[in-house]
Amino acid sequence: MLSFETVDELLTRLARGEATARAITERALARIDARNDALGAFLAVTRDDALAAADEADRDRARGDAPKKLAGVPIAIKDALCMKGAPTTAASRVLANYVAPYEATVVTRLRAAGAVLVGKTNMDEFAMGSSTEHSAYFPCKNPWDTTRTPGGSSGGSAVAVAAGMATAALGSDTGGSIRQPAAYTGTVGLKPTYGRVSRYGLVAFASSLDQVGSFATDVRGAARVLEVVAGHDPHDATSSREPVPTFEASCGQDVRALRIGVLTESLGDGLAPDARASFEGALEALEGLGCTVSRVSLPSLRHAVATYYVLATAEASSNLSRFDGVRYGVRVMPTPTASLGEMIGASRDQGFGAEVKRRILLGTFVLTAGAFEAYYLKAQKVRRIVRDELLALLAGVDVLVSPTAPTEAFALGAHDRDPLAMYLSDVFTLPASLAGLPALSVPSGLSAGGLPLGLQIVGRPFDEATVVRVGAAFEAVSAFRASRPRP
Ligand code: GLN
Repeated sequence: MLSFETVDELLTRLARGEATARAITERALARIDARNDALGAFLAVTRDDALAAADEADRDRARGDAPKKLAGVPIAIKDALCMKGAPTTAASRVLANYVAPYEATVVTRLRAAGAVLVGKTNMDEFAMGSSTEHSAYFPCKNPWDTTRTPGGSSGGSAVAVAAGMATAALGSDTGGSIRQPAAYTGTVGLKPTYGRVSRYGLVAFASSLDQVGSFATDVRGAARVLEVVAGHDPHDATSSREPVPTFEASCGQDVRALRIGVLTESLGDGLAPDARASFEGALEALEGLGCTVSRVSLPSLRHAVATYYVLATAEASSNLSRFDGVRYGVRVMPTPTASLGEMIGASRDQGFGAEVKRRILLGTFVLTAGAFEAYYLKAQKVRRIVRDELLALLAGVDVLVSPTAPTEAFALGAHDRDPLAMYLSDVFTLPASLAGLPALSVPSGLSAGGLPLGLQIVGRPFDEATVVRVGAAFEAVSAFRASRPRP
């Protein structure tokens, strides 16, 4: 099963000359052709770009050049990231005809590392959602059960990896959009510390929360991809100058005596019994590895959803004001003599989907003079409390763990009439986002219905290394790894 290899296995086979990048790429493209109609993972396939990169990787190898870090590895890119010359829609109608004239720094760095970029993946419109059903084009489906959502908003990237259409992928995570779909699809998702990775060329949702991160079938692969894209970028003033370690080197290190804090509040009523059982199994596995596991308390967890949905929508309402039909994106003239205001109104009305409009309205409201102090300012204060509480906990333990999500993947359409119910499913991923902390989701086992569940590991700022170390050690002994059925 060539297309389900890990990044490491693939690179080893390429290095041994057992496969060519061309053959691997053709295989990935064939798999996309065969399965994309059923799964809806890709919005665009960048076939020529991919084959050209594959041929270059093969030429480099034939010449005996030192191999690049991701030479010949098929990688899928979330459609929120600009890839020069390719459509970039963020799954919105408003950007239906937009072809990126420039490139996200992370995409350029992948190219420089020899990666083969196979296409742009489906997502919730502007990354607003937890199911990839809010795509303006078509919903994405979970390869483990196509009546279920793959999670979101980076659902297409998660499915590309889970279904063997790419060996790794990039996603973005504002409140859980990498970790939750990773959990739902049995893949690994790594959201780095805020500032670790450049946001240049990422279509903005909520700029103080947005981070680019990686998906792969194993922790090592996700770590390697992150390592390639991480690091300071003069084009993004919020990108950090913190040195980037070799995250992959943390895989395989022993975890004895590491201290693990269990977020007690994540074990409350909302947690499904099978998700609880899987999580408890994961804690036993961690203890078996020699970690010290203790219960800790994050009282502010219950405010995380409300806080996030005030701040993220406020930032979104500001960021999305740029889509006005003037400079780029869809332009709608309601009548031939429409005024500028009428043109902008009609363009936005027809360009944005229902969830995006809901968020723009909510975000605009919380920023109005009458509501600013009661909502926006208060949410900023609570955000600070969440961060302070998490940092205080992380002074006493090395990482914090919880289930990634309270349930297995939910059914497509389950939350159609109740957006709030979907927001509530983000509860465990939001604290790390509000605090800007690195967080990983690694498969922990299967639900009663045979669907994947994830373990979330949260670390100190810029300590992705420890998060990866714990994740890789757990993965090596987890029940999921042993029984991994492949969709
Ligand atoms: N599900 C969350 C939301 O709808 C998070 C999305 C994300 O991380 N982009 O906003």
